[in-house]
Amino acid sequence: MSGSKSHPEAKKTGPRDFVAGYLRDIPRSGIRDFFEIVSTRKDVISLGIGEPDFVTPWHIREQAMFALDQGATTYTSNRGLIELRRSISTYVEKMFGVNYDPESEILITVGVSEALDLAIRAIIEPGDEVLYHEPCFVSYAPEVRFAHGIPVAVSTRREDGFRVTRRMLEEKVTSRTRALILNFPTNPTGATLTQHDVEEISAFAKEHDLVVITDEIYSELTYENDRTSIAAVPGMKERTIFLHGFSKGWAMTGFRLGYACSTPELSEAMMKIHQYIMMCAPIISQLAAVEALKTQADTEEMRSSYEKRRNFICAALNEMGLPCHVPQGAFYVFPYIGDYGLTSKEFALRLLDEENVACVPGSAFGACGEGFLRCAYATDLEEIKEATVRMARFVARLRKR
Ligand code: PMP
Repeated sequence: MSGSKSHPEAKKTGPRDFVAGYLRDIPRSGIRDFFEIVSTRKDVISLGIGEPDFVTPWHIREQAMFALDQGATTYTSNRGLIELRRSISTYVEKMFGVNYDPESEILITVGVSEALDLAIRAIIEPGDEVLYHEPCFVSYAPEVRFAHGIPVAVSTRREDGFRVTRRMLEEKVTSRTRALILNFPTNPTGATLTQHDVEEISAFAKEHDLVVITDEIYSELTYENDRTSIAAVPGMKERTIFLHGFSKGWAMTGFRLGYACSTPELSEAMMKIHQYIMMCAPIISQLAAVEALKTQADTEEMRSSYEKRRNFICAALNEMGLPCHVPQGAFYVFPYIGDYGLTSKEFALRLLDEENVACVPGSAFGACGEGFLRCAYATDLEEIKEATVRMARFVARLRKR
């Protein structure tokens, strides 16, 4: 036996780097980078975090406490509690018009985050391409790369209200394209689709034989349009993985609970991964979610409060010279800041430095987010008012320089 256990490279270059090469190439989330800077400062008004400012409604928290009180501290079935799957099935049918079998087509996950990972891993072979519209939630491209797929961004534009159209998708599709990720209402732009858009995209997915992964996490938070899920278009349920969860509409981010609805085959494939990596979602959260689905009153109250804040912040941003399209859903507004000679990161850092207001640079959401800023309005209205006063002062100064 050799006397030394060290890797030969250690002698030449110091300690060996054990991290997988492909992972090294994936950048850290721009949001995380930015918030590490924010966390070093005091008295910041944050329009940065994509999280409801509401505490989870009392009756849901009470149910979680009751669950603990009753000794609900075990694993559940891998798929999740059948009681919850039944409630989800009823809810999804009522709200989205698609019927999923609770026994074989619904899988309870640890947030939409896990559901997304399962969906991608269940369908992607190494080298497969996955289309997604940008600017978008920071996880899509990295998740595809974790599965050794190739993420292909489809840029959307402010002029189109950040909608994705069939024409845009046609430009990027190839023979290697396997799937399309949709997220409407969109984080970070608040964009929604019309029924016509959804039908066009469905026809595109059928023509190119794609799986559609639709992230519906903000669908309770829509303001003008009716909810339109692509899963409800005739012939689409068979090729759609419908992802949803409790983080946004029910203010339950910390419960870490989501679900994936799909065909029995796809559901079984996702379940195979889920059972080995996660076993099951936390039972306390599952019992709380059963309670959450008993009423829509809380969600409706929160939606209406976000709508008031949206109306205020959009008017204020437009007035101060940061034009923004009026988002139809979610709780983000995405103003254009490209007229002031600063990159979105420079703009955000200076706004933080000079006025103690934190917004996320648009570039954190993909290359075509450059020139924009994401302001989350899931913050108290009085704070939003103060933030916009400070932002107006900052923009006025930039204009004079
Ligand atoms: N999808 C989108 C579009 C999101 O914005 C988020 C959270 N910001 C998630 C998924 C993940 O949500 P969770 O894991 O809390 O369900």
